Amino acid sequence: MQYDVIVIGSGPGGYICAIRCAQLGLKTAIIEKYKTLGGTCLNVGCIPSKALLDSSEHYHNAAHSFAEHGIKLENLQVDLAQMIARKSEVVSQVCKGVEFLMKKNKIDVYQGKGSFVDKNTVKVTKDSGEIEMVTSKNIVIATGSKPSSLPGITIDKQRIITSTEALQMKEVPKHLIVIGAGVIGAELGSVYARIGAKVSFVEYASAMIPTMDSTMGKELQRSMKKLGADFYLSHKVKTVENTGDEVVVTAENPKGETVTFTGDYCLMSVGRRPFTDGLALENAGLTTDARGKIEVDEHTLQTKVSNIYAIGDVIRGAMLAHKAEEEGVFVAETIVGQKPHINYSLIPGVVYTWPEVASVGSTEEELKAKGVPYKSGSFPFKALGRARASMDIDGTVKVLAHKETDEILGAHIIGPRAADMIAEAVVAMEYRASAEDISRMSHAHPTYTEAFKEACLAATGNRALNA
Ligand SMILES: Cc1cc2nc3c(=O)[nH]c(=O)nc-3n(C[C@H](O)[C@H](O)[C@H](O)COP(=O)(O)OP(=O)(O)OC[C@H]3O[C@@H](n4cnc5c(N)ncnc54)[C@H](O)[C@@H]3O)c2cc1C
Repeated sequence: MQYDVIVIGSGPGGYICAIRCAQLGLKTAIIEKYKTLGGTCLNVGCIPSKALLDSSEHYHNAAHSFAEHGIKLENLQVDLAQMIARKSEVVSQVCKGVEFLMKKNKIDVYQGKGSFVDKNTVKVTKDSGEIEMVTSKNIVIATGSKPSSLPGITIDKQRIITSTEALQMKEVPKHLIVIGAGVIGAELGSVYARIGAKVSFVEYASAMIPTMDSTMGKELQRSMKKLGADFYLSHKVKTVENTGDEVVVTAENPKGETVTFTGDYCLMSVGRRPFTDGLALENAGLTTDARGKIEVDEHTLQTKVSNIYAIGDVIRGAMLAHKAEEEGVFVAETIVGQKPHINYSLIPGVVYTWPEVASVGSTEEELKAKGVPYKSGSFPFKALGRARASMDIDGTVKVLAHKETDEILGAHIIGPRAADMIAEAVVAMEYRASAEDISRMSHAHPTYTEAFKEACLAATGNRALNA
């Protein structure tokens, strides 16, 4: 065999897997159909969305809170072209970083579309039409996902757009209709609401970010209303039509009536679908399940063909970059005979709005449904000195602990730097800490992390010191 491992797809799952394989001494190749490495995450996902979230947050602060900080500005303007150009430069830098890592780890990169010839051979078709055959003992499928739509709704990429187009807009929408108030909708809706767009969320569920603890959705909705966003929850979208200069959306409201929304852009953010188009899975003896995912063994991430593995968005579980990365490392270590482990129940979820939302472990709704006895402790950021100093007082920390053992079962944070704060909860929960354990550890003052300690104190029995 030419290689020990071929990885198809260079997103966070694929490129991290390739690096770990190379570290372990395996002769490794990676195949990527796009010209740049890094997959959805680096090119059209995590990184560009965070770049625009940061830029738009700077503008929003300059417009709304600088004066209170004693900073006066005149003629404040949004230069969207520059915002998008900076974002593209960030993307270019991080993609080049992955290229460098491939060279550093002596991983062969094949640019072209990979498709199975058999269970050990992949055909790489370059953009020029040129074909190359590569063979390997092991193959890892890391082909990720693509935005999905709703039945009967065509994404024209002009006015009816996905997150990919929303990351490269040429104008600030006057009225952006966001279908789906989940993570991606909330983040990109925030970007444009902050820089002047009217944003309307039309969501099928009865809450924003419906998979997270319900307190988070309610608090986030309250914060986003302050940005002027409108919410149409429990609305079932029926049609979306590009009428030229406008886009018209019809939906059924909770009373069963048809309501119409008119805007200049409609962002479809109703989730993502696993991507296996053109892989010719059948040539390797593989199929996908009813939802288009590749089925894998829970313990090894092997597909039903034992030398072929699959990781990341293309298999079951959370569609998150850090989940894909963990699986990449897991597969590399499994191939060399190690016994790695992933704790899927402690993969944090984050929404990079402001305030940020971050969550790990069980939600209150899940504990109730499972009949687990629990106690809950909350601490509002408005009672925290650090939050007062920065004027980031929206939000709360909620800690759920087992009623008898006091073990932390869930941590749910909406507030400043929640995305970074959640790491403490992950570490605590990996080591099965109790709320009392955290309550007795020194947290630097003044920091946002004190809110987590205070929420743990509250969970241990109303012992929060500053509320
Ligand atoms: C707007 C947006 C924001 C996001 N923000 C976050 C965030 O903040 N945090 C987070 O954790 N997650 C975020 N995500 C999700 C995250 O991007 C994905 O979970 C992650 O990229 C999945 O990694 P992956 O390696 O499975 O696949 P991908 O990153 O999708 O990469 C798959 C790669 O495979 C390539 N490929 C596909 N088929 C072939 C083929 N036949 N031959 C060769 N190459 C092929 C594709 O071109 C692609 O480069 C975001 C997603 C979006 C869209």
